[in-house]
Amino acid sequence: MSVARGDVLVPAWVDHPERGRVACPAARLLGGSLLRNGLAVRYQDLAPPSPPSPAMDADGRAVLQVLSYLGRDGAATGLAAVSAPGPAAAAVTAALERWAAVMRTRRLVVGGVEPLCAGVRRARAVVDAVAESGRPTVVLAPDPVAAGPVIGRGSAVRGTESAAELEHILDGAVVVVGPAGVAPALRARIAAQGRTPVDAVCPLALAAQAEVRRFAQQGETVVLVGRNGHGAVPALLGQAAAGSVRLVEDLAQARQLEVADPGRVAVVLQPGLPLGEAESVAEAVRKRFGHVLPQHPSTYCHAADDRLRALTQLARACAVVLVTGPAASARETVRVIEQAGAAAYAVLGPEGVRPGWLKGRASVGVTAAAGAEPGLVQALVRTLSGLGPCAVELQEGATVASTTSDAMSAVAGGTAAVEQDPGRALVPVRTQPGA
Ligand code: SF4
Repeated sequence: MSVARGDVLVPAWVDHPERGRVACPAARLLGGSLLRNGLAVRYQDLAPPSPPSPAMDADGRAVLQVLSYLGRDGAATGLAAVSAPGPAAAAVTAALERWAAVMRTRRLVVGGVEPLCAGVRRARAVVDAVAESGRPTVVLAPDPVAAGPVIGRGSAVRGTESAAELEHILDGAVVVVGPAGVAPALRARIAAQGRTPVDAVCPLALAAQAEVRRFAQQGETVVLVGRNGHGAVPALLGQAAAGSVRLVEDLAQARQLEVADPGRVAVVLQPGLPLGEAESVAEAVRKRFGHVLPQHPSTYCHAADDRLRALTQLARACAVVLVTGPAASARETVRVIEQAGAAAYAVLGPEGVRPGWLKGRASVGVTAAAGAEPGLVQALVRTLSGLGPCAVELQEGATVASTTSDAMSAVAGGTAAVEQDPGRALVPVRTQPGA
């Protein structure tokens, strides 16, 4: 092992002659800072004999820099990096100083909401089971946000968005109808190919589709309050003859809507929308026509509302919230949190976190945007737990853990964590040249 000029080794732990094993769970925070400085970062543990003699440049020199603090049990936690002397070492020093400035005791508050709604989780389980058979699997999922998590596992699995693509589906492939469902016409085309699709449609999506069919069969014009482009919309529009289901996206469209018979109007809310927002549009439809038939409330999808409520609660509990997950939904989540009054930043992973975001923040929120892969929140919490003694708290849970590993099981297991005694001395203990 060697460290070239411009290379930096960032370990997840290092053995220090005075403090012993120094755990560095926040290694990727330091790595991110160094990457942004143009350095080539390698994550590599520095094993005994300590200090890590193998880390040398071409001249046989390297610099190990360690920043650490002691917990009440005497265990050391911190950050470390090995670089060649000169500019790389100076960049490491500067980055360590920036992270040292944000080391403190803090609460990490995990937004208590699943990044995948129940319908998508259920569909994903179906897809995983099918993919295990080893046959190519194609998921019909028009919404990329919903499709991503559903098809996330199983190398033979892919998503498709349109009927045209269906013609190219491999012989022998299993077709799975994704959580949003598909229009009956598309199902007919699948059947015409001699295939029997596996159904992974969310029961709430099916319930909304049944409401559209019921009203259309009664002769009502069905006003579908929804968003063009949302994955649930094609299946809902396709439940009745063209023209008998009208998509209305906002108040302006509701106020201008014209129908053949204003006395025969029903309203269905597209699942996946915040109900408050959809209901205000439905109310405008009601006002326009005087009377409309409403969908049964038992068929409402509450996933978006649950999420909004949890994000608002998180924003109230923390001055800053880190959001991880797919870029588009992370941006939307950031917008919601900012509207609720907290600063929020989207990160793809721990390396994206900037020290300035955490400065002076005693409470930091962490949440996953819709569609985030499982485990991203845990990775962020684990990383942030290396910036000083912390309490990890789940929004809805009780408090239990006092160490990083306790905290991680808390996050994974659905409980929460309590306060840990502040560590001794959040100080850089050593800058050690010529390791
Ligand atoms: S209907 Fe609601 S719960 Fe079901 S998949 Fe859609 S958003 Fe998720």
